[in-house]
Amino acid sequence: MDITYRYDPHASVHPRPSRTAEDVIHNLQEGHLRYRTMIDRVERELVNEERQAPIVIEASPLSLGFSALGAQVQAPHALFLGCSDARAPIERIFDQPSNGIFVVRVAGNVLGTECLGSIHYAVMNLRSSLRLLVVLGHTACGAVSAAVDSYLSPHDYPEIGYTFALRSLVDRLHIAVRGAARSLARVCGVDVKQHPEYRAALIDTAVYLNAALTAFDVSSEINAIRGAHVRVVYGVFDLADQHVRALPVDSQESNEKIFGEFPASSDAFTELGDLIASSLKEAGRI
Ligand SMILES: [Zn+2]
Repeated sequence: MDITYRYDPHASVHPRPSRTAEDVIHNLQEGHLRYRTMIDRVERELVNEERQAPIVIEASPLSLGFSALGAQVQAPHALFLGCSDARAPIERIFDQPSNGIFVVRVAGNVLGTECLGSIHYAVMNLRSSLRLLVVLGHTACGAVSAAVDSYLSPHDYPEIGYTFALRSLVDRLHIAVRGAARSLARVCGVDVKQHPEYRAALIDTAVYLNAALTAFDVSSEINAIRGAHVRVVYGVFDLADQHVRALPVDSQESNEKIFGEFPASSDAFTELGDLIASSLKEAGRI
């Protein structure tokens, strides 16, 4: 099949301005839909062997990363804290141009001092354009899987967290893993540990909980910055079907929310864990 980038030298070199966090969410939803439409068409041609019309992508110099007009003023409308995983390229998932989003990527999308420094910098210095902060996890995350394995098999912890650097990642994820284990036991019964899909369900639940809890932590941090007006949400990119969503529900839902509100208390954290576990149970994944 043909995919054509149509370069328009007269297209705007400035990203579309966003006045509110809701504008930004709408913009990101549209971009994600464009990405998924492309995936869908490629899949239909490659897997189902349905002949598809060529895909033409209108591209401005900006969206291709070219800036022949000199350095632009940095003006992202959203900040993402995502995982370093090579399968989760954030600009592509949301079809965002250069200068559209400010991205911090670290394994397991955990908060550390340096990544918080990047976030503080952006919130303090890019406040004229920045309206939204998204913590984006992804399914089958290696860092979360390592934390789950050290929880299920404490005997292996010395190997999993052998270095200080690895330990600092894995240890930060344990709160989400333990919350996930508690919710799965409450929703599915304590015997859920014997289920052959228990480890996979624990990883899935912990991935969503980790993104949500990190969003809460980031929000607490940036609230301390005077004059900060950035809304914080979370989402999870599902590698299996390439959808971003706030809960692991059926991908065919038309009004699916791609981002969710973070839990603002320990009770809300518990409720969200139960909701995620129930969602996996209803989907027959545990
Ligand atoms: Zn990951």
